[in-house]
Amino acid sequence: MSQLQNQPGHEASADLAGEKHLKIVQLYPRDMNIYGDWGNTLSLSRRAKAHGFSVEVVDYNPGDPFPKDGDIFLGGGGQDSGQSRIQDDLLARAETLRQLAADGTPMLVICGLYQLFGQDFKTVSGQRLQGIGVFDAHTVGSEERLIGNIVEESAEFGTLVGFENHSGLTYLNGDTKPLATVTKGDGNNKSDTGEGARVHNVVGTYLHGSLLPKNPAISDFLIKQAALKKYGEFVPVDIDDSLIEQARASAIARPR
Ligand code: GLN
Repeated sequence: MSQLQNQPGHEASADLAGEKHLKIVQLYPRDMNIYGDWGNTLSLSRRAKAHGFSVEVVDYNPGDPFPKDGDIFLGGGGQDSGQSRIQDDLLARAETLRQLAADGTPMLVICGLYQLFGQDFKTVSGQRLQGIGVFDAHTVGSEERLIGNIVEESAEFGTLVGFENHSGLTYLNGDTKPLATVTKGDGNNKSDTGEGARVHNVVGTYLHGSLLPKNPAISDFLIKQAALKKYGEFVPVDIDDSLIEQARASAIARPR
């Protein structure tokens, strides 16, 4: 496991007596971290501090000891080749991650890692990458790239805005619920309007951007679930989101 690195977002706060503490684990930042995904970690860390928590951010890369005591797990997107590089390690951690998810640990996985949290991903070159089955979903590579700004409506989180760039088409199996319904853009695939997936306290989505700076409702959800699980309560601080609202309005108004 890499030590806390000397860059913003990786700073640990000193543990003060009585202070509530959250450990955020960023999964596979070396191979799975594109289109601003690392900004999610930075944004979540700052938001948790604004809600009064001390925060520690830990990177997890293949071969590191697994930080099972993480309170929130985040993972980003990657090229098919990056997904292939982490696959063996991810499969070795599958049982642990499934158990953490089933126990209610909040997680956010974007694009490439979202695909690998499903059952499998058959790439366009014919390779089959096995997923860890947190989501009952499967992904099939296509020749077409689904790319551009995306806006969607979620009953749980309201309007979500971001940027998608993927050629994998994801299909939710059985009664797996999407995260949201797309109003501008493509989402999981081109044959239905669903985007992302939701199970337990796990959010899977194709939205890069970074996602969390423009969608603080998801940050607050992750922090709240982590706090409830660890401390049995979450007392939110009223945060001034007026700048975020302006950024959201401008992002939502952008053409596809
Ligand atoms: N390689 C995957 C795809 O193109 C994921 C891409 C990504 O994470 N942006 O479908």
